[in-house]
Amino acid sequence: MSKRITTVCGDIAPEQLGVTSLHEHTFLDLRIAGGFLKNYFRNIPESRLAFKPENFAFLKTGVYLVSDECAVVDDMDFLEKEYGFFKADGGQSVVDCSPIGVRGDVQKIRELSEKTGLNIICATGVYTMTSRPPELLGKDAAFYYETFKREVEEGIDGTDIRPGLLKAAIATYGPDGRLMQGELDGVIACARLSAETGLSVHIHTDPNVRGEDVIAAAKLAIESGAAPDKVHICHMDNRLAAHIPVGDYLRKAEVGRNICLDTHKALLDLGVTIGLDTWGMPITNNNFFVTDDFERLKALMQLIDLGYADQITLGDDFSSKLLGRSFGNYGCTRFLEFSLPMLKQYGYGSAIDKLVVDNPARILAH
Ligand SMILES: [Zn+2]
Repeated sequence: MSKRITTVCGDIAPEQLGVTSLHEHTFLDLRIAGGFLKNYFRNIPESRLAFKPENFAFLKTGVYLVSDECAVVDDMDFLEKEYGFFKADGGQSVVDCSPIGVRGDVQKIRELSEKTGLNIICATGVYTMTSRPPELLGKDAAFYYETFKREVEEGIDGTDIRPGLLKAAIATYGPDGRLMQGELDGVIACARLSAETGLSVHIHTDPNVRGEDVIAAAKLAIESGAAPDKVHICHMDNRLAAHIPVGDYLRKAEVGRNICLDTHKALLDLGVTIGLDTWGMPITNNNFFVTDDFERLKALMQLIDLGYADQITLGDDFSSKLLGRSFGNYGCTRFLEFSLPMLKQYGYGSAIDKLVVDNPARILAH
């Protein structure tokens, strides 16, 4: 049987996918994850967490993650408008990367697909340890495997909507200084199911996760049965400048903001694919450098020069009301409006179809 891509409205041929963002969100609920982060962002008055323009700049320091108002996206009109901008820029397909515990109502996701005419591919899987609902805590890889398999075979939440990708996450270190086994079990479960179904495994990475642990997680997925080209490591643009200590940069004249691609190259040499998928992310923080769009673009051009254009995808990780164009940010349009024209301008136009059409179709086809 020829390969297909599973969308919330049913299967399509890979050639029907077109211009694709491989990492966005639509309906979602990050309240469990945000609740945990309240330990980190302490003593913030509720008045400063309210979703109103005078708080927007402060919320962008990352604090929006603990604002319940920002953590839930459940507004059809808002999403229809935001994804309308994406479509007007030439976008045709969207991967909604939210797994169980974070994912919104899949029937509404299907309705959004019907209203906008965009293909939307949704996920099964689990996210970080700190964002799992109680029924997914204290479980092992076998339990996760069965849970994801049921959604792939029977549909999600009592519907006939099936996931088109598998999602895991690495973010959380235990007291022993190692990534928590519950997160690695998510990777193992997805990889085993990938081996049987051909569905791709998308692994979220937090910027604080050490490069060697990201590489180890990719190897774990491959050892657990996933084909290397079906393993996709998300958010590899998040860490481009995060290795430079802010204090060193400020105090030492010779320390610059040079991007580091060592982990990226090691991953790509394993045969896996990576996402530069947080274009336009407006976060600023006093404690670590968040990558900016010129650093993303520089990394992308260097990786294309090194011959990796067949292994990279793009996206914006549009994951909060705060990030929407309706509220003064780029929503899910930044890579279309910034990175693609800039690639053309600087002589990289021939890579564009690979990044946004061919690679997403190959990754998602099963
Ligand atoms: Zn995301």
